[in-house]
Amino acid sequence: MQTYDFIAIGGGSAGIASANRAAEYGKKALIIEEKAVGGTCVNVGCVPKKIMWYGSQLNEDIKRFGPEYGIQVDNQTLDFETLRKSREAYIDRVHNSYFSGFESRGTDFVEGHANFIDNHIVEVNGEQYYGEHIAVVTGGRARLLDIPGIEHVDVSDDFFAWETLPKSVVLIGAGYIAVELAGVLNGLGVETTLAVRKERPLRDYEPTIIDALTEEMQAAGVKILTHHNVAEIVKNNDDQLTVNFQEGDSLTAEKVIYAIGREPNTDKLAIENTDIALDDKGFIKVNDYHETNVPGVYAFGDVIGKVELTPVAIKAGRTLSDHLFNGADKFYIDYDMIPTVIFSHPPIGVMGYTEAQAKEKFGADKVKTYESSFADMYSAATSNRRTVKMKLVVVGDEERVVGLHGIGFGMDEILQGFAVAINMGATKAQFDQTIAIHPTGAEEFVTMK
Ligand code: FAD
Ligand code: NDP
Repeated sequence: MQTYDFIAIGGGSAGIASANRAAEYGKKALIIEEKAVGGTCVNVGCVPKKIMWYGSQLNEDIKRFGPEYGIQVDNQTLDFETLRKSREAYIDRVHNSYFSGFESRGTDFVEGHANFIDNHIVEVNGEQYYGEHIAVVTGGRARLLDIPGIEHVDVSDDFFAWETLPKSVVLIGAGYIAVELAGVLNGLGVETTLAVRKERPLRDYEPTIIDALTEEMQAAGVKILTHHNVAEIVKNNDDQLTVNFQEGDSLTAEKVIYAIGREPNTDKLAIENTDIALDDKGFIKVNDYHETNVPGVYAFGDVIGKVELTPVAIKAGRTLSDHLFNGADKFYIDYDMIPTVIFSHPPIGVMGYTEAQAKEKFGADKVKTYESSFADMYSAATSNRRTVKMKLVVVGDEERVVGLHGIGFGMDEILQGFAVAINMGATKAQFDQTIAIHPTGAEEFVTMK
């Protein structure tokens, strides 16, 4: 049996970050991965999604804004195969850079499916490996419902495997993936419908921002159906899919994509051979420091079902190895204060509490908000104006910023710098003391009245 200081079961964002950091401290580290190196983010998540988002946005912008900038493209067409090839070539380069990173650090990588033998031993391809420290970072997969015809639908993984673009798609779901893919598909020229079961998508986010999102999506051509619950999916003779809703109406499209949340990969790991405790949905239970109930066994990333974002998985992994192998203090992630971007069209940036959440946490009389709404300059030079909406939520007499919300051009790139300020406890007055950069959209965050 081979012995390691650190074993990561799963070669996604969490596993790679933690094992590489362990190896950097001279520890013997192993990553076990059954599919493609890089996991969800690199292969069927953030990376291919962002390239599709760029491609879709470019296609849309040339059509929408090009003519009034004097750019006239006659007979604009999209060659999906070229977009796909560029995307896959990019992913291949990321794979190569991972493998050269393993080599330079001395991180071992084994391809295969890991099963637990006991709390500290796993088996892969018939070989057993003992890990003094083991990270269960097996991520998750799209959740599906047990309804008639569900076998006909696609999930986001399937979307990234499409070789041709369908003419029409219905998306079922109301979160990041449904909203992002709706924007991407619409921008690529696909007839797109987003069906949500409640009053709007992204219900936990700041309502004014989401109202602006739905207006922008509809203006761009996405059909949004609210209060629609799927009863069944029927495959027709012409291979088209009909979604019959419980509300009595129906929709027919070439493809149906389900994106209603994710479930953890903890059911095919022989985890029953260990003492690792799971919650009632199968996510691994951990404390604030990502320690499971078994000493020397940790879990983070999507498999714990908290905040399913790549940088969160990476931060947890690196700081765990800093603690285990370099004497750093245990690191606590404040899961309420994580900056995040929804790559919708236009993008949404969020950090911290909505107005309603802040009022509940700090008391309604302690919370104040600042808002701004305008058309981004990029579109305002044309007759096709696009909205930017921004909102700051501040708390206490010192007006500490505890929530920043925005939708609009460039919001994906604007947020990171403001996240540093908020992380440092910045107040509204400190935002205002900062000299604006003109002409940008971001300057509005430091000039709000
Ligand atoms: P994963 O990346 O899923 O890695 C787990 C790995 O474990 C997998 O590769 C799996 O094959 C492997 N595995 C599982 N079981 C075993 C086993 N028994 N033996 C061996 N290997 C095993 N996040 C962002 O921050 N920004 C984005 O823009 C973004 N976009 C996304 C778009 C989509 C469509 C999706 C689905 C997700 C997106 N995310 C995004 C979320 C992000 O991808 C995840 O939070 C991140 O990948 C989680 O990393 P992880 O290491 O926990 O899990
Ligand atoms: P989300 O958790 O974001 O959203 C799923 C939503 O689907 C729920 O909030 C719910 O909204 C709705 N839903 C749940 N059950 C049903 C049902 N039975 N029928 C219809 N709708 C239902 O999940 P996603 O799958 O979109 O994404 C998973 C995670 O991946 C995200 O939360 C995010 O952490 C990560 N991700 C991050 C991205 C980024 O950083 N840009 C991009 C993509 C994914 P409601 O209750 O309102 O109906």
